[in-house]
Amino acid sequence: MHILVTNDDGVDAPGLLALNRALSEVADTTVFAPSRNWSASGHVKTMHKPLRVGETKLVDDTPALTTSGAPSDCVALAFMGVVERPIDMVVSGINQGPNLGHDVTYSGTVTAAMEGAIAGVPAIAVSLASYRTADFGFAAHVAARLAEKVAENELPSQTLLNVNVPAVPEGEIAGVMVTRMGLRIYYDELVRRVDPRGRPYYWIGGKEPGGVLDEGTDLWAVANNYVSVTPLQLDLTDYELIERIGTWELEA
Ligand code: MN
Repeated sequence: MHILVTNDDGVDAPGLLALNRALSEVADTTVFAPSRNWSASGHVKTMHKPLRVGETKLVDDTPALTTSGAPSDCVALAFMGVVERPIDMVVSGINQGPNLGHDVTYSGTVTAAMEGAIAGVPAIAVSLASYRTADFGFAAHVAARLAEKVAENELPSQTLLNVNVPAVPEGEIAGVMVTRMGLRIYYDELVRRVDPRGRPYYWIGGKEPGGVLDEGTDLWAVANNYVSVTPLQLDLTDYELIERIGTWELEA
């Protein structure tokens, strides 16, 4: 098995190093990650400027490819031929911080995995649910176990797994729960300041997001110390709405 390993925190991020280290024990890996942090960049396809690809090394001497593009660009470039060897799976992470509920629509970690699903291979996004804890060991172990399970059991095409690991000591992990996407609540606040030339500029500030802790959701699972595994699909269609909107007598 040959796994493409990428992330959105950038090629220097410790989560990438830990992930690659764990996956190397169960598969051959190629690391291809962005040269800078692309957190909350969403699903990107860079089309209006050239992309550079360089070679670098992780701190454990693992050779890695890096690009000026986004996480999803890394995956696309890899599949379009920058990585010559056929890729069997994409694993993205380990992100510093959770990707729960609506976060998946912003997440470079998740959208890199989506790009893998679009390319036709199984894909996993892995996040550590803390912006502070830098201990990625357990989350990396979970990712490697899950990659083996995915290889063994396969995933339907156009699907991926979004994994969130609670940032608690391993002994406090309650188990692994297969979940649905929950409802994120954002507390973003607009911070308006004035630049030295008197013109206003804006920052999106505010405290960390929360969410509705419905049982069975990714948010609930992580809040209760479960590793959350959410199957996602690229088909975003709301099938029930097809019929309802069909009654609107839309005319062209
Ligand atoms: Mn990130």
